[in-house]
Amino acid sequence: KKEQPANIHHLVEKIISGSRLELAQGITLIESVRKQDQSYAQELLQKALPHTGASVRIGISGVPGAGKSTFIETFGLMLCELGYKVAVLAIDPSSTVTGGSILGDKTRMQNLANHPNAFIRPSPTSGTLGGVHRKTRETMLLCEAAGYDVILIETVGVGQSETAVRNMVDFFALLALTGAGDDLQGMKKGIMEITDLIIVHKADGENRKLAKRTVREYKQILHYLQPATPGWQSTALPVSSLQKTGHKEVWELIQAFKEKMLESNFWKTRRQEQTKSWFHDMIHDRLIESFFNEEGKKRVVSELEKSILNSDVTVTAAVEQLFAKKV
Ligand code: GDP
Repeated sequence: KKEQPANIHHLVEKIISGSRLELAQGITLIESVRKQDQSYAQELLQKALPHTGASVRIGISGVPGAGKSTFIETFGLMLCELGYKVAVLAIDPSSTVTGGSILGDKTRMQNLANHPNAFIRPSPTSGTLGGVHRKTRETMLLCEAAGYDVILIETVGVGQSETAVRNMVDFFALLALTGAGDDLQGMKKGIMEITDLIIVHKADGENRKLAKRTVREYKQILHYLQPATPGWQSTALPVSSLQKTGHKEVWELIQAFKEKMLESNFWKTRRQEQTKSWFHDMIHDRLIESFFNEEGKKRVVSELEKSILNSDVTVTAAVEQLFAKKV
């Protein structure tokens, strides 16, 4: 079916008025690989742009089994009950590699999915990692235009996708589990340095006491690290999604964070930096794509690869040759 540009205007009106059906259609356009759809998607985004920016963008990460979907469902339902509109998006690095997914299965978060204030969109399952990031950003903007107050972007604890999510959100939370001291050591410093809040999850039953201790230990470590957000002391909180405790505290903390960042203007500064680096990332991706799409380029590259391995040519000289050989 061919979507006519005239309908884009109608589509954006429906999205802004809050219709989930049209929002889902808009996201499908964003995710489409068809050239025509892509240009419609850009037209749509252009029209939606003045209505974006008003949400709180929250990233949530954690290893499989940390309880991300359980936490997001409980947290999201609490926010919906408070009257907020909540959108849940996901970046699943496994899907870009295998086409399958750790995060994307549809049976997750069924209660939240059924709430009229919630909108859940599984991770895009096709495209390069860079492409998936772009789609998620654009989807986030469209959700904002649709009036969603809180955007939760979920990802699994795999380095690259965590950094990507950090670069598109205002607040980044990591779900960790209680555990022996060596768990603390095992957590990479890199991830702690991009984290505004460590949620020590499953703080219930026999784990309660241990969770409190783990929270203290994380706080100590965080105190010595570079903060993820200037002017904000990253911290830790115990949460149980089973017993539904701690979610209120998490939300209060995020609100305090926002207030503080608005005061210092870092809220806006960070978003501007993020948009700029998104722009530059896309230039970068586009350059690489057009470079390799040039007639015969791949063949020349593989020939030069052989020459390099044969020590016939140095790496630098090979690169010089590649760029000299523009036809
Ligand atoms: P994900 O892979 O990070 O999305 O994790 P899930 O949300 O699927 O949860 C993994 C397992 O942990 C499930 O068996 C949940 O029932 C369990 N779980 C989730 N939250 C809690 C919690 O707060 N307390 C306890 N004890 N178990 C939980």
